[in-house]
Amino acid sequence: MKFVTEYRDADAVRRAADTLRKLTTRPWTVMEICGGQTHAILRFGLDRMIPETLTLAHGPGCPVCVTPAEVIESAIVLAGERNVTLCSFGDMLRVPGSHEDLFSAKSRGGDVRVVYSPMDALRLAKERPDRQVVFLAIGFETTAPANAMAVFQAKREGIHNFSALVSQVLVPPAMEAILSAPDNTVNGFLAAGHVCAVTGCEPYAPIAEKYRIPIVVAGFEPLDLLNALATCVAMLEKGENALVNQYSRYVRGEGNPHARKVVEEVFEVGDMAWRGIGVIPSSGLFLRHSYREWDAKERFGLRDLKVPEPADCRAGEVLRGKIRPSDCPAFGVACSPEHPLGALMVSPEGACSAYHRYRKKETPL
Ligand code: SF4
Repeated sequence: MKFVTEYRDADAVRRAADTLRKLTTRPWTVMEICGGQTHAILRFGLDRMIPETLTLAHGPGCPVCVTPAEVIESAIVLAGERNVTLCSFGDMLRVPGSHEDLFSAKSRGGDVRVVYSPMDALRLAKERPDRQVVFLAIGFETTAPANAMAVFQAKREGIHNFSALVSQVLVPPAMEAILSAPDNTVNGFLAAGHVCAVTGCEPYAPIAEKYRIPIVVAGFEPLDLLNALATCVAMLEKGENALVNQYSRYVRGEGNPHARKVVEEVFEVGDMAWRGIGVIPSSGLFLRHSYREWDAKERFGLRDLKVPEPADCRAGEVLRGKIRPSDCPAFGVACSPEHPLGALMVSPEGACSAYHRYRKKETPL
């Protein structure tokens, strides 16, 4: 397939790994921010091709993983309401809340539906005016435009039985939180190409300058990742800090202006709690006052719930790149894809699910 196979060519990948090895003379830690990149690194064995002195830290860029348990709990509460249809992407259904997940709520008779787009949920609301249809709107900058558009359309068309339970987060403030931590060890970042396709690269330049680090916008194929790592390491070796767009076949400097416009219209920025990490200033998107009527929290009077994290789950340390999933004592023992303790084992972008899928044979289970 064009645009995929050439970026997986074995000889080209080996040459890129050789280049990276020759470039690396000192120990460096580079964090890939996106869970999709983490899975690609493990799936293609790129972590075994890089020099030993180069450490890859896996970042918090898995949307399902960082959605607070309180939001899952609120969704479970709503799913138990008699006149509510709760719509969600499929991977949210198995994320544990305080003591159960949305699948359990569904099995108890809750009307929980898997949709492929927020517009599917809006369509359902139009077809079923007798039901309150709630869409669980989570994710990073990549999902924000579609989620914003569904709410925008609901207002424009006067669909009053649709609302969104919103938990939208932003990548750049999370990078700043990692870099400003006293125990930070990250020397450079691979930024997520699909996020930058929406927002553009501009939000990352001030971070590269402020923290004096290289940030390379990277794709998701083996050559994308190895070449981006080589660019990042080359800058580290020379003591340079800059933002480089290595994914220019998709990412334009200004991103997608239409997507940005609808996000700006519907959402405003505020402080947000990330699961396992805590509150990060200015890292969330919330519905503006003019769209309050379509906010499920307002419509159903949902209060802030307090949901403790499972004591044995070390998701916060994994999400900040402090430990590897296989360092968690519960990994593959009390926590597995069949019986997940934490969201990182559920999501197809979670680091724990990546290690379980691609590295479990190396870990005593
Ligand atoms: S292996 Fe399971 S319990 Fe451990 S950090 Fe990952 S999700 Fe949490």
